[in-house]
Amino acid sequence: MRILLSNDDGYLAPGLAALYQALTPLGEVVVVAPEQNCSGASNSLTLSRPLTVYTAANGFRYVNGTPTDCVHVALTGLLDFVPDLVVSGLNNGQNMGEDTLYSGTVAAATEGFLFGLPSFAFSQLNKGWGELDAAACVAHDIVAHYIAQPLSGPLLLNVNIPNRGYAELQDWQITRLGKRHPSQPVVRQLNPRGEPIYWVGQAGDARDASPGTDFHATAHGSVSITPLQLDLTHTRRMPEVSDWAARRVSSAEMSS
Ligand code: MN
Repeated sequence: MRILLSNDDGYLAPGLAALYQALTPLGEVVVVAPEQNCSGASNSLTLSRPLTVYTAANGFRYVNGTPTDCVHVALTGLLDFVPDLVVSGLNNGQNMGEDTLYSGTVAAATEGFLFGLPSFAFSQLNKGWGELDAAACVAHDIVAHYIAQPLSGPLLLNVNIPNRGYAELQDWQITRLGKRHPSQPVVRQLNPRGEPIYWVGQAGDARDASPGTDFHATAHGSVSITPLQLDLTHTRRMPEVSDWAARRVSSAEMSS
């Protein structure tokens, strides 16, 4: 069993080290992670410059790029083998609802999924690394269970783990993504030269945290596991949009 491990908080993040330790009993774990914190990087690839891969003293490899760069480079030439699994995390903070669209943690796993590999993204609910070892044990349990009882076909699982002790994390709920309110406003400040600068505001609070969602499960102390798909097609609206397109008036008709 060979596991490619990445994250978005950077190769020095405690969550990466904890997850590495937890996964090591399951097989050979190869780390390729970003040099810098890339939280919020989404699925971006670096196309404007070349990438360099460095090796840290502990053997972790790190890349001056995004999480997606890391997994992409690993799978398309850096590694001389195809890993059996791609794992991302443990992230410093939750990735639920629309967070999944912005998350670099989810993106690293998504890249593995796009290459047809079973892929897992792990995040702790609250920032600060509280109960990190317990979360790493849960991640181990989920990956170990998958190895023992694999599902057929490509799989992308987004896992959010409350910051609780291991004994309190035995309930796994399979969830759908909830929804958030729009993000809070940007924070406007003045830089030392008196010029305005803007910080992107906090993510909004949950708007749909009803039973069955990731928000609901984690709020009640459960580990939330959401299977993700990547097809963004809004199939239900296709007939309506087809009708709309059919009602168009061509420029030629308008001018006649
Ligand atoms: Mn992060």
